[in-house]
Amino acid sequence: MPTKIDAQKWYERNSKRIGVPVDLIRQNYREEFEGEKDIGEPLEIPDKMEVFYKYTYGQQSRFFREIRENQKLYGARCKKCGKVFCPPRAGCPHCFEDTEWLPLEGTGTLVTYTIVYFSNSVFARKVPFVCGYVKLDGTDFLILQSIYMDDVEKARPGMRVKVCYQEERDGRITDIYFTPVDE
Ligand SMILES: [Zn+2]
Repeated sequence: MPTKIDAQKWYERNSKRIGVPVDLIRQNYREEFEGEKDIGEPLEIPDKMEVFYKYTYGQQSRFFREIRENQKLYGARCKKCGKVFCPPRAGCPHCFEDTEWLPLEGTGTLVTYTIVYFSNSVFARKVPFVCGYVKLDGTDFLILQSIYMDDVEKARPGMRVKVCYQEERDGRITDIYFTPVDE
């Protein structure tokens, strides 16, 4: 059934109506307007659904609230073996025991790293920057984080770093970053 309406105009009008690119509309409706569809076939109307949703940090929530509210870094210590995790864990994966919160100094040592020159939009303005595993003082594991420094070429394993807090904090892991400390 060749359609009698101007397909391109229909694509453009509906693209504008729901805020979706014309190409996407055309791609989905080419068969309707440029192909062979029987007049009795189900007619589909384009529309768009936006989803607002929340996700939870669960038992790691305090870690993020302490950063956002108090600019404090916390680890989690296993009540049995005493190992300290940061990022924190609710339970120790080695002895299956609960952990307890432990405030950290926020200083640590860069263990290994890479220099990032190409990034997604979140970090695009920061390139080049160092991204590496830091062993925080008083912990037994590594945290992956950005290390901001003027000359990224000066980064080296064993470099001492300290945690810094963004001025505007949203309760996300990007609320913190590391910078080198001169010792
Ligand atoms: Zn343990």
